[in-house]
Amino acid sequence: MLCENIARAADGALLFAGQSVNALADTYGTPLYLMDEDRIRRNCRMYRAAFRDAFGEDALPLYAGKAASFRQIYRIMAEEGLGIDAVSPGEIGTALSAGFPAEEIYYHGDGKTDADIAYALDRGVGCFIVDNGDELISLSEQAAARSLRQKVLLRITPGIDPHTYHAVNTGAVDVKFGVPVETGQAMEFVRAALGMKSLEVAGLHCHVGSMVFDEDVFLRTIDLMVGFMADVRDELGFVFRELNVGGGYGVRYTDDDPMADIPARIGEVGARLRRRIAEAGLPLPRFLMEPGRSIVADAGMTVYTVCSVKRIPGYKSYVITDGGMTDNPRYCLYGAAYTVLHAAPRGKLRAIFDLAGRCCESGDIIQPAISLPAATCRGDRIAVCTTGAYNFSMASNYNRFGRPPLVMLRGGESYLAVRRETVEDVRALDL
Ligand SMILES: *Cc1c(COP(=O)(O)O)cnc(C)c1O
Repeated sequence: MLCENIARAADGALLFAGQSVNALADTYGTPLYLMDEDRIRRNCRMYRAAFRDAFGEDALPLYAGKAASFRQIYRIMAEEGLGIDAVSPGEIGTALSAGFPAEEIYYHGDGKTDADIAYALDRGVGCFIVDNGDELISLSEQAAARSLRQKVLLRITPGIDPHTYHAVNTGAVDVKFGVPVETGQAMEFVRAALGMKSLEVAGLHCHVGSMVFDEDVFLRTIDLMVGFMADVRDELGFVFRELNVGGGYGVRYTDDDPMADIPARIGEVGARLRRRIAEAGLPLPRFLMEPGRSIVADAGMTVYTVCSVKRIPGYKSYVITDGGMTDNPRYCLYGAAYTVLHAAPRGKLRAIFDLAGRCCESGDIIQPAISLPAATCRGDRIAVCTTGAYNFSMASNYNRFGRPPLVMLRGGESYLAVRRETVEDVRALDL
């Protein structure tokens, strides 16, 4: 199976985290997001242990909340001892409402408004990751007005193309995030920040992309970042004490994706960092990363009920579900691949279908050309695997469909973490 938490019972029924997918769908209804809490915790512990081994005690993985942001996940992150990265007042407010400590929040974003900055400053957010010079000025003014000395990391763009989808490539020179090293602008950005008395410049940040499998990418990132740290020391006489190289480790969506040995990769990054830092004659910085997908993706599964099976002879066949691009826009956005399983397969004969949603868009396809039992019919349950990252968090109310509930699976039991959005919820803001 794709991941250890997916299995089949003796009669072929699909099990997720040891529980019957059909029974969960009966209890909670569909469409339904399932989240394997034990898997999330296991992934957190894997990161913490790998960080301790590779970089020492003070290294910290930050969970990138944009992958899946809801109150319960922040309680879990607090319990597992991870920091978090947040990109909006909404994510910050959700984390704080769950009791997550403000000091452990790193606040991202390339378009922070004055109001966003004020919101985070007033709540004691531990660190701003400053994306650009405009933000730097607004933040320093607002921190000064509050007599604060705000800790910041400066986001720079090292100029790495991680050879992934264009849409998720954020490390090359001409992307909208951060300040590029190559053009000399990053050095000026650092110089400007160091001149601001209300800011405490702790370190540097970069994020080269997502779904990274290429083992080389983070090693090259380390080379470039340490090179820039040495340049800053030589030119400005300043030594950074934190280095955050972002998120991005890939996960398996289908059997064609490689198995990423993340602890081994992190070990290599640690060795490379120590070597480059020693060569540069710099002190070892506190090391941070921001894994999102690789913490929650394989903990997720989405369950649908089939509404119709439509066969167009000589063309193609569709399995139309009660969900779609509203709960999983990733195929529509960038052709993302998924593994699709029938919850209770019958018969040996299989057929090829496009798995479609119920939105009024021809492009509302969850996954094209998948193999399912030919006997699939209305009322059957279909599961899409590895939907824990960027599904719930990217969900919309297009066509005014309510968003599905999010149910956590823990130790053989289940509980609701986010309830289903009703028609009343969907129109609640309309005056
Ligand atoms: C998206 C993002 C992450 C998380 O990336 P994953 O691929 O989910 O691990 C981390 N940091 C930043 C700045 C991001 O934009």
